This record gives sequence, C-alpha cells and structure tokens, in this order.
Amino acid sequence: MEHPENHPDYKGLQVNSGVKSQPSVNPYRRPRARRARLTADEFVSGIRNGDTAVLGQAVTLIESTVPEHQQLAQEVIEKCLPYSGHSRRIGITGVPGAGKSTSIDVFGLHVLRDGGKLAVLAIDPSSERTQGSILGDKTRMEKLSQHPSAFIRPSPSAGSLGGVARKTRETIVLCEAAGYDTIFVETVGVGQSETAVHSMVDFFLLIQLAGTGDELQGIKRGIMEMADGIAINKADGDNVDRANLAAAQFRNALHLFPPTPSGWRPEVVTYSGYYDLNVDKVWGMIDRYFDFVKANGYFEKKRNEQAKYWMLETINEQLRNDFYMRPEIRALLEQKELRVLNNEQSSFTAAHDVLNRYYELLKDVR
Ligand code: GDP
Repeated sequence: MEHPENHPDYKGLQVNSGVKSQPSVNPYRRPRARRARLTADEFVSGIRNGDTAVLGQAVTLIESTVPEHQQLAQEVIEKCLPYSGHSRRIGITGVPGAGKSTSIDVFGLHVLRDGGKLAVLAIDPSSERTQGSILGDKTRMEKLSQHPSAFIRPSPSAGSLGGVARKTRETIVLCEAAGYDTIFVETVGVGQSETAVHSMVDFFLLIQLAGTGDELQGIKRGIMEMADGIAINKADGDNVDRANLAAAQFRNALHLFPPTPSGWRPEVVTYSGYYDLNVDKVWGMIDRYFDFVKANGYFEKKRNEQAKYWMLETINEQLRNDFYMRPEIRALLEQKELRVLNNEQSSFTAAHDVLNRYYELLKDVR
C-alpha cells in the first residue's frame, strides 16, 4: 500500500497516484548558454581561419568601451598585424542619395567575380547622435550581404569621430588578417569623416550625380581635392547626356587643382550602379591607379605616412580622453570658463592653470 490514506478502513481524503513529473532540466539543452570568452590566440587563429563569427566578435571587442575588452582587442590587433597590409583599401564617399549602397552592391559583385574576399566597413559620424549606424547596414546591400565572401560591418556607433575612425582602422587590420583582399570604407560625403577615411585608404572614390553647375559648387572643395577618382552615377536612360556633361565639368574643375602628391591625375568616369552599366570603367580606373602608385613607390609611402598618422592620432585621442574625463579637470574648466567670460582672467593664463593642475594630478599618481 503506497499511502496509509489508501487503506480500506481509511475514511478521509484519498490520495490517487499522479502522473510522474517530467525532469525539470531539458536534457537536450546546450551545456552553456553563454559563449566562453576566447583568448587572444584563439581569436587570432579563428580570424586567420576565416571564421566570420570570430571576426565579428573581435570587431565587437574593438568597439567595446570596457577597458578589459580594449586590452584584449589590442592584443588581438597586435597579433594580427603581421598578417595585415595585403589588401586594396578603397574609400567611397558621396552625399546621401548619390547611390553609394546601390553601387557598393554591384562594385562588390564585380570584385568578387574574380575570387577573393571583400569587407565593407563604414564611418558614420552621425551614428553618435542617432544611436545607431546607417552606413554599412546589410539590408542596403542585398546581393552582397548574401555573398559568402563578403563581410559587411556597420559603422562603430559610439564616441568621437576620431574614436569611430580608429576603430574602423583597427577593423581593417583584422579583416586583412582574415584574408579580405579588398576593403571598402564607406562614408557620407558631408563632413569631416572624409579626412578620416582618406587617412586609411589607398584610393578615394567620390560618387557624384549629374547635376547643374550649382550642384558642382556645392561639393566641398576639400573632398574633391582628396578624390583619386570621381564616378558619376546614374548615367542611364535620359540622364546619360547630363552625366557626360557633368563629367566634362568635373574634368575641367580638376585641372584647376594643384597636382596630387602621388603624381596621379584623378580621373572622371560615368556609370550606372542600378543598371550595372560601365561598372568596369570604374574598376579600370582603380586598377590603373594601383598600378601607377605601386610602380612609383607612392603606395608604400602613403601607407607609412598613414601608420604614423594613426599612431599620433591614437596618442592625441588618449591624451584628450585622459584630460577631459577627469572630474577635477572638468570642474576647474567650468570655473575657468566663467572667469574668462567675465574678463577676470585671460584665456592663456586660464589654460595654463588648468594644464598645471593636470600635470600635478599626474605627479600625484606616480
Ligand atoms: P546612398 O544614400 O548614397 O547609399 O544611395 P542609394 O544607393 O540608397 O541610392 C539612392 C537612390 O538612387 C535609390 O532610390 C536608388 O535606387 C537610386 N539609384 C542608385 N543608383 C542608381 C543608378 O545608377 N541609376 C538610377 N537611375 N538610380 C539609382
């Protein structure tokens, strides 16, 4: 008898045998829900083996602001560095609506036709404000995002333009170590981010639209001076003549610019990204450029200059962060600002005072 309550003489409530309960733990569940953190060497070997999940995780590490992530990320970058450098780095800029995503989609397929691997990265300064990046969004590059040899990564979203750009630059190193031999870095042609992109790519392509002379004026002169090539998009249908006219105008405008440090004369071509017309003209130009700068030594020279630039930029960024993140310095700055605005102290002595306080703080730590 299982229970005394079930004895024939028992008059109270009876207990019926129930249904056996299921084990509370699902035997098919994976042993660990959380992924264990990889070591730097595991990251590097995953990246080198072309494991895109590991590459993606490593990029996330680069983008993290957590100090220990940063430390690990730097170790991974350092270990990837010997395998980096063997790619064509191409910057692509143009105002919103110029057709960057449409073009990158077809450019990408064009590059991948001959094999190889392509990474599409982005620098989007507006992401700081919108709390999310627009550039590099996979949905904008429909065909490319489904291609097994393409790695698309949106712009890092947090921090200053300098910080965002540095992360993209570091991501290039990882992508190259993973065997990506063409890297696109996309940016919106409206602000300062071009300078940052220019400082990390070999070739800088400006995507333009056919337009009136007025629109030509609207383009920032600085951006045109940085461009190694101008590609006029949407040269299709009724727009072909206008595109050709615009090309002639751009060629004339470029003649007025001083010669580029590479000795290369920027070219202007017309194409249609949407209808996939004359895309090989764009690539013909890019191929000619690489042949030219590799032959005259400018390719190496520019990369060395860029490496130096990024070292100095990183120092600047870290110094600035260290300075401005200190509560005591921030408080003192606020006071000094008031004094300067009230004409109680000159800007220069106020700056000196704040800097001196900073140096004292540094001494205290030592
Ligand atoms: P982005 O803002 O620079 O990335 O520009 P998109 O690639 O999103 O393109 C903006 C608009 O232009 C979209 O509606 C595209 O369909 C259109 N577009 C892009 N390339 C071409 C082209 O070659 N010809 C024509 N007619 N339209 C295009």
